[in-house]
Amino acid sequence: MQAFFEEFPNDSGVLRVDLKAIAANYRLFQDKVVAHCTVAGVVKANAYGVGMAQIAKTLLAQGCAQFFVATLDEAVRLRDIAPNTPIAVLGGLFKGAEGTYTAHNITPVLNSPDDITRWGAHAQKQGTTLPAIIHVDTAMNRLGLSAAQAHALTQDLSRLDGIDVQIIMSHFACADEAEHSLTAAQATRFAEISKYFPQAKKSLANSSGLFRAADYHYDMVRPGYSLYGGNPTPEGANPMQAVVHLQARILQIRDCRAGESIGYGASHIFTQDTRTATIALGYADGFLRSNSQRDEGGACVYWHGHPCSVLGRVSMDLVSIDLSNLPKDTPAPQIGEGVEILGPHQSVDDLAKSAGTIGYEILTSLGARYRRIYSE
Ligand SMILES: *Cc1c(COP(=O)(O)O)cnc(C)c1O
Repeated sequence: MQAFFEEFPNDSGVLRVDLKAIAANYRLFQDKVVAHCTVAGVVKANAYGVGMAQIAKTLLAQGCAQFFVATLDEAVRLRDIAPNTPIAVLGGLFKGAEGTYTAHNITPVLNSPDDITRWGAHAQKQGTTLPAIIHVDTAMNRLGLSAAQAHALTQDLSRLDGIDVQIIMSHFACADEAEHSLTAAQATRFAEISKYFPQAKKSLANSSGLFRAADYHYDMVRPGYSLYGGNPTPEGANPMQAVVHLQARILQIRDCRAGESIGYGASHIFTQDTRTATIALGYADGFLRSNSQRDEGGACVYWHGHPCSVLGRVSMDLVSIDLSNLPKDTPAPQIGEGVEILGPHQSVDDLAKSAGTIGYEILTSLGARYRRIYSE
């Protein structure tokens, strides 16, 4: 293998995104879902920090026929990449934004009676029928029509004049927990409410939901996290291929003496002489400050497959690691070499666990300073 510093003389960190793995993960869903079920691509938040343009192109090449994003701004950017594919905005229809939706042929997810009224009025003003997705809330209590609001809507169908309700959707709260009773309860509520909209396609499942029961697939599933390699079934092995590989450069190697401290706040004092490396990676790059040293279960990075614990506090641009526990037969770490932050020895879910968070936050925090390499 070529040395990191020879391959990337200008770079602090290198993020490799394996687009073949994205494609394989998408195909796994296509194989898994029930017949006639579409696999939408959820590419909000810059495709979970991984890179919306590259991911969207990869999914399009696999036949993806529906995208979801969170904001209108994301949708407008995606429109350039996917000129003909339906794009839906989960965050709802802001007052005054209606014209931007129609100008870019973007579909709003209507989350309230007011969203519906304004979209209907906009359609009438345009003298046309406009597509929409209706979101019903079945437990999250964040966005979407309540069951009562959905029912009231179906009692007065004139409120849907000018609106082509293409999809009726809801979202699971606890599908990542294998046995959580709320998942089945939500599915029951969704089955009841979605009956009011017989013409619309039905969509309920996110990454985890689609692994829980084929009954939850309906007409469309909406995986996000698992597309990017995250484990949708945290209670067991990860069925997905890893997508993101991250290396960061060793800037210095130091021999610290017993009694000395390391990093801000001098939070760690060495009890014995310790060889350390300073790595070009910090919380500004998405290596969360909660990865700072803890008494137990702290974060580590990997050198030739061996863990090196984080020492002291994670700084904005730097982190220190302990080299003193490397086996004797391991090549000695060198300045300019790369250490593994994410890769074969540490998954996104592993690092999330050390940081006390979820892999979604690890991915969406991935920094802008890495050299990003997208391999086909
Ligand atoms: C983000 C999101 C998804 C994707 O969820 P994952 O858990 O990442 O698969 C699906 N549906 C909605 C409404 C979302 O907000």
